Amino acid sequence: MKHALTAKLRRWPKHCLAKGANASYLQSSNLVETMTQVLDRAAAHAVQFLEAVQKRPIAASATTAELRCRLAKPLPEYGTPAESVIDDLVRDVEGGILGSANARFFGWVIGGTLPAAIAADWLTSAWDQNAASNTTAPAEAVVEEVCGEWIKELLGIPRSASFAFVTGCQMAHTTALAAARNKLLHDRGWDVEGKGLAGAPPLRILTTQNRHESMLRSARLLGIGTEAIEYVAADKFGRIEIGELEKALRAAGRDPVVVWLQAGELNTGLFDDFTRACPVAHAAKAWVHIDGAFGLWAATSERYRHWLDGAEQADSWATDGHKWLNLPFESGLVFVAHPVAHRAAFAQVTSYAVPLEELRNQKDWNPEWSRRGRGFPAYAAIRALGRAGIADIVERCSALAQRLVKGIGELPGTQVLASPIINQGLVRFLAKDGDHDRATDEMIRRIQEKGVAWFGGATWRGMRVMRVSVCNYLTQESDVDRTLASVREALESGA
Ligand SMILES: *Cc1c(COP(=O)(O)O)cnc(C)c1O
Repeated sequence: MKHALTAKLRRWPKHCLAKGANASYLQSSNLVETMTQVLDRAAAHAVQFLEAVQKRPIAASATTAELRCRLAKPLPEYGTPAESVIDDLVRDVEGGILGSANARFFGWVIGGTLPAAIAADWLTSAWDQNAASNTTAPAEAVVEEVCGEWIKELLGIPRSASFAFVTGCQMAHTTALAAARNKLLHDRGWDVEGKGLAGAPPLRILTTQNRHESMLRSARLLGIGTEAIEYVAADKFGRIEIGELEKALRAAGRDPVVVWLQAGELNTGLFDDFTRACPVAHAAKAWVHIDGAFGLWAATSERYRHWLDGAEQADSWATDGHKWLNLPFESGLVFVAHPVAHRAAFAQVTSYAVPLEELRNQKDWNPEWSRRGRGFPAYAAIRALGRAGIADIVERCSALAQRLVKGIGELPGTQVLASPIINQGLVRFLAKDGDHDRATDEMIRRIQEKGVAWFGGATWRGMRVMRVSVCNYLTQESDVDRTLASVREALESGA
């Protein structure tokens, strides 16, 4: 084995084998030079990419085989100078970077990354703080404290709520559900942190079919199980049917219940009726959780805020910074109206890192131990945009989604299935032979191939649909117009 590897390495460019390369990083006299070179290099590559990504075809062009061929080098025995590593990396991933940072990427709810957020994210790596606790990352702890307060204010969440910066909405759900599990069972005399779930009163989750798939995994991870999820009927808009919810709550009796609501449903952006659902759930002593991965950000806009009326009554809220706020990935956020339960589910005591008393200790609220300082990019983004800038992104994206869906609906052979109430909509393409599912998938493929814009497909109420999602801060009217022209061409090329 060793022999085979050495033989391969012999074919590798000379500099990869340079033994001396390693030693140079250990000499501090070279560190400034090395860092300057490699960071300048990365900045130049990044700027070049960010410019090119707006112009070149959006879909990835390299095949898996090509990417493997370039990237799956033999495990290196010796180091390579950092600059070459970065240059090689940029060259080897070519064609394998999906252009989701493009202003005409309307696929999943992804968004781009604001300049201030990218820069703060790079600094976060340079500072290399372990944001587990306030002793290992004091400034990050303060920044998280500040961001937590800012975001509560932005999203209309009560000031008394606790929070955590997690990796994404999936982990935000898991954190919220752990807090819910603690409180619901504690109220019934059961210490879930000590005893676990075996023998505990059975938890159930009431929701509609419009819930995001991530809920199921949170239920799996926490030992609640997916069979504990009960689907309540939705009204014609897709909102939880209040009468049916009351019935399901009655049937649950004294069992602990989480009512799981949507603020911005994945496909249509719909919002449950919080004003009616929250009091009904609370009358039955249930915990209300809101999945607002992107929809909670509607609270920043005077125009769209009304969709969230009553949402402030919930017990927990999960959202993302890496969607509508245009932060880099791994920017999830959870808020909990019951700090005691939240803390009881997560707090840790260590003898080797005694937290500063006067400052929020991240580890007491988060599911992870060692973690990245996720507060810095969020802090930078909010300062760069201000409340007005965030509201502008929300309103502009929503207006553009509405224009885009309306424009597609005006083309022959198309059907609008969901007009955006915020930034999400659904359309499909009609076939003369009636096979609209095939026609829709075929059109998605053709639009992707044209490279000007990118949409994804989904199955919604038994139909294949094209999802329209606008959440990039860069998207402008001209992008919508170019997209509509490209969709028209794709339609004509198939006719
Ligand atoms: C994206 C999304 C999630 C999952 O969030 P991650 O950040 O990917 O973990 C959950 N719910 C909704 C509505 C979403 O849009």
